[in-house]
Amino acid sequence: MGAQIKIFRLFSYQPCGHELLVRVVRPAAPNADQGALDAADDVADSATEHLSTWWEQRRLQTQCPHQHTSNLVAEMQEEPVGEDLLGSGGRQLGIWTARTEYGAPWMVLGTAATEAEFWQQVQDDPDLLHLGPLEPAERRQVHFLTDEDVER
Ligand SMILES: [Zn+2]
Repeated sequence: MGAQIKIFRLFSYQPCGHELLVRVVRPAAPNADQGALDAADDVADSATEHLSTWWEQRRLQTQCPHQHTSNLVAEMQEEPVGEDLLGSGGRQLGIWTARTEYGAPWMVLGTAATEAEFWQQVQDDPDLLHLGPLEPAERRQVHFLTDEDVER
């Protein structure tokens, strides 16, 4: 059984550099059933699309007059560092992101007071170490939005 997981995706909006971090749920699906796995991925992708479109129309376009293009800069499918990204969104947040040995867009991310504290917590988490995080971590200011913050 592929367990239900949280997926974090970070989008960067050009030309201004706005950053949107969304958290969605990919439902559980049996590993042996490729159709069910694909359907679970589709649920997560469509929730991501819904959140980013909502944010672009309701927030970004009302605050910034530019025409934006977005691209995916980070994705993580493990529990993040810190508690902030497990709670509700709809707010600005300072996060740390670290590239991994698996290349783009895979990253390790989370919240911590300092970069040293971020790495300390990564070191204590075998699931995060398994992602092959690479120093240094980068500090980013993001808009954080989850599928609990927006009506479908
Ligand atoms: Zn802008």
